Amino acid sequence: MTGTERRPTTTDAGIPVASDEHSLTVGPNGPILLQDHYLIEQMANFNRERITERQPHAKGAGAFGKFVVTNDVSAYTKAAVFQPNTETDMMIRFSTVAGERGSPDTWRDPRGFAVKFYTSEGNYDMVGNNTPVFFVRDPMKFQHFIRSQKRRADTNLRDHDMQWDFWTLSPESAHQVTWLMGDRGIPKTWRHMNGYSSHTYMWVNAHGEKFWIKYHFKTDQGIGFLTEQEAEQIAGRDVDYHTRDLYRSIEQGDYPSWTLYVQIMPFADADSYRFNPFDLTKVWPHGDYPLHEVGRMTLDRNPTDFHTEIEQAAFEPNNMVPGVGPSPDKMLIARLFSYADAHRARLGVNYKQIPVNGAKVPVHSYSKDGVMRVENVTDPVYAPNSKDGPQADTANYGDSPGWHTSGDMVHAPYAPHRDDDDFVQAGTMVREVLDDAARERLVSNVAGHLSKGVTEPVLQRAFEYWRNIDKDVGDRIETAVRSPG
Ligand code: NDP
Repeated sequence: MTGTERRPTTTDAGIPVASDEHSLTVGPNGPILLQDHYLIEQMANFNRERITERQPHAKGAGAFGKFVVTNDVSAYTKAAVFQPNTETDMMIRFSTVAGERGSPDTWRDPRGFAVKFYTSEGNYDMVGNNTPVFFVRDPMKFQHFIRSQKRRADTNLRDHDMQWDFWTLSPESAHQVTWLMGDRGIPKTWRHMNGYSSHTYMWVNAHGEKFWIKYHFKTDQGIGFLTEQEAEQIAGRDVDYHTRDLYRSIEQGDYPSWTLYVQIMPFADADSYRFNPFDLTKVWPHGDYPLHEVGRMTLDRNPTDFHTEIEQAAFEPNNMVPGVGPSPDKMLIARLFSYADAHRARLGVNYKQIPVNGAKVPVHSYSKDGVMRVENVTDPVYAPNSKDGPQADTANYGDSPGWHTSGDMVHAPYAPHRDDDDFVQAGTMVREVLDDAARERLVSNVAGHLSKGVTEPVLQRAFEYWRNIDKDVGDRIETAVRSPG
């Protein structure tokens, strides 16, 4: 293409500009003139390019694709997105948790697995992780947990002493910490890991019957992991290793996919089940509640503008469609508020008008005005009205999916179920899921982590914490730290 055929550069107002290379000056040696508005616009825009990064989950990338239902689960949910053979456009964002926007993809950390389905009943978001459990079960502790993973006030450094101080004083973290320190704590790529809702949700069928469910997205590429040494080496040469892998595989037509399964618990089982089914630090053992296939998610399109399509993507678990509801999981209930609040703080109150966040069905809400609103609001602007404005369809959607509850107002932990214990499921993983080689890598990973700056009395507490998970593993970790080599 010759110079004359190329599109002319314009200002943001569409006015052709005089030069891409030279500012307007008095004579070739200047001074620069203030009326060079294009120069000023370029400088001003550049100064404002970066937006606040997510707190946490700042480093990540994503892609677009399709979700196709392959099995009939209509007996459990009436959600349109899960009806047989339904195909739904979707997007996903993978991320690390604690690192900042430019941090290495291969640091040991859980990975975010946030999915947005553009369904025929509005957007359905699932804000999961690549682990089925979490470090805490009460949202009061979430902010403190994340601060313990990020940076100290004085040195501005991440600090293992701070991390283990929090973990050992929060024994409910044991299951997730065991998972994190094991092989799956550093996935080979985002394509080689599972995604889990972690939270329990409710499904409601067309007859109004309710079920408790957990989502499991199992990778069709097979599970893969990096050892600590491999991950460190990669971090040194390519901080964007997972980002690059995802983009390249889709670019080359090697589309990654995941099969979605759900565990389904009859509504009435929740009270008597041996574990509290809403405790985010616990799984439902497969032997108790097997997996039911739902469908397949395939990623086949990369973003063309990372900023507008991924950095500004806003996922929120409160985006639930008819046929899906929350559960009494305290962490979930808090997230139903905090995600939308975080988006309002980071992107502005009208973040749902950013195209990637917009529903693919007509929106008839009464939200109005606010910074950066770009869609026109039409009268009437209030409800109820007799002016032909939108009216809630209470006949079809009036029943919020809920459960009976009553009690005194207390600050208290969950009432325990029969087998509830902070260490029991972590111990099962160590003894019954990991093989000898995986257990050895676990011991080595933990000992290596504890050997980097963890001080007494936190160190001694960490050995007891691991002995509570598994006596033998705890002893081996202490030996490896106290008598290295
Ligand atoms: P199962 O033997 O049926 O399941 C064990 C599961 O552990 C596997 O299905 C796999 O999950 C997962 N797993 C395998 N290797 C690792 C690893 N290195 N790190 C983390 N997870 C791994 O037993 P149960 O269902 O009775 O669960 C036993 C223990 O397994 C639990 O206490 C929990 O720690 C762990 N687990 C259980 C899950 C569940 O939802 N029941 C999910 C993940 C872990 P997957 O099939 O999802 O890949």
